[in-house]
Amino acid sequence: MVKMQFDMLVNVFRSATGIQPTPPPMPDEGASAPVKPKVVVALYNYKAIETGDLSLEKNQEYEVLSDSQEHWWKVKDARGNVGFIPSNYVKEKESLGLQQYDWYVYDMSRQRSESLLKHEDKEGCFVVRNSSTRGLYTLSLYTKIPHPHVKHYHIKQNARGEFYLSEKHCCNSIPDLINYHKHNSGGLASRLKTSPHDRPTPATAGLSHDKWEIDPSALVLLEELGSGQFGVVRKGKWRGSIDVAVKMMKEGSMSEEDFIDEAKVMTKLQHTNLVQLYGICSMKNRPIYIVTEYMRHGSLLNYLRRHEQSLSINQGLLLDMCIQVCKGMAYLERHNYIHRDLAARNCLVGSENLVKVADFGLARYVLDDQYTSSGGTKFPIKWAPPEVLNYIRFSSKSDVWAYGVLMWEVFTCGKMPYGRLTNTEVAERVQRGMILERPQSCYKEVYDVMRKCWSHLPENRPSFKILKETLIGVSQGILVD
Ligand code: AMP
Repeated sequence: MVKMQFDMLVNVFRSATGIQPTPPPMPDEGASAPVKPKVVVALYNYKAIETGDLSLEKNQEYEVLSDSQEHWWKVKDARGNVGFIPSNYVKEKESLGLQQYDWYVYDMSRQRSESLLKHEDKEGCFVVRNSSTRGLYTLSLYTKIPHPHVKHYHIKQNARGEFYLSEKHCCNSIPDLINYHKHNSGGLASRLKTSPHDRPTPATAGLSHDKWEIDPSALVLLEELGSGQFGVVRKGKWRGSIDVAVKMMKEGSMSEEDFIDEAKVMTKLQHTNLVQLYGICSMKNRPIYIVTEYMRHGSLLNYLRRHEQSLSINQGLLLDMCIQVCKGMAYLERHNYIHRDLAARNCLVGSENLVKVADFGLARYVLDDQYTSSGGTKFPIKWAPPEVLNYIRFSSKSDVWAYGVLMWEVFTCGKMPYGRLTNTEVAERVQRGMILERPQSCYKEVYDVMRKCWSHLPENRPSFKILKETLIGVSQGILVD
């Protein structure tokens, strides 16, 4: 039975990628055979800075010596050097699939692929991405003829399992197909020429293995990025090479000792749609610095307001932003982590329209009564459900309510929820069942999702896991892939 399932999976994998995976040993085979070493391939370059870490060279192979820590693995390179590497920078050789190709962008959405290719602005620039229909792939291609735009083509398969874009030119694997269309446009708007260069590399969980305490002398502080509840945020460079954001906490703004313990846990939370906490400066520094991944376009709220003109006519992009936030929140929910202050102002935008949730869990360490008590002037009343207003009862389901308000902020391009109503007026009306109105030109299907988030009883609200599936379904229904 297991063997049959494996054979089926192998066929799908082999035909898409052109690679032959090695089968796992059957239960009765290889009981005494030596354990095969795990071999990984680097997806990105990585420069080791701290002693004990090892540099990675893209496309090179490494033998894994220990993967007991989730985010930092001990590996050996071809010259016998041993050290720690970030596990999200490598992929097991046997399941590498299309990820070895620069043109494969995994599950990037249609909207983000369009932004990326338009930004590159090169005739014939292309990417291949997972289609919203599971198991299929889409080619997104930029052409300037007759005007700059992106065309999307489903990569189809015929009865013989061959891949094609135009039925006349079928190939055994997707890489062969891409290669064919690099030389012949074969019915496409252009021949495939290049794929986007200098794509950002993902953040690592901490700046080195087992490192969450950061030496402030290794940080060069640059321009101010903004200021918020906790104080000023400045751009920084760590050891002259990694861009970071440094939150310089205001004296007395948070219970520092409790937070320092929590920071160790928080550096281990890692997801594409969460702002990575790199660590804190607390030993030689008071008040402490919180060091996170740098996000070049700043807060989502300001981004929405700044780009209202172009965003308001692109509902697909707005929905994609909501889906990205939902993915980050579904990860937190899976890890039983409650945000407590989810809102557009607490999400950040990076390059390629990547949206990430920031400041998760920080609210617990704030010492300011005006922020922590529901009657306080800084309490996020307009994002709070009835059970928080009444009993300060936070849960993943109170995050879901706030997420509905965030969706509303996104689809109004950053309007203030409930307009000029005061916090007291909103609190009173929300408890009587009042909800936000449908934003102008927002699809009914999208507004229906917001309304589910605002179910009076927490148990009637969907989980982020369900929300994610629903929103992906909505985007397939109202937008073309
Ligand atoms: P906060 O204290 O988190 O509200 O941050 C205040 C402002 O600093 C935000 O509105 C952003 O404009 C900016 N900021 C905060 N964190 C980052 C970051 N990681 N990358 C870039 N800008 C940031």
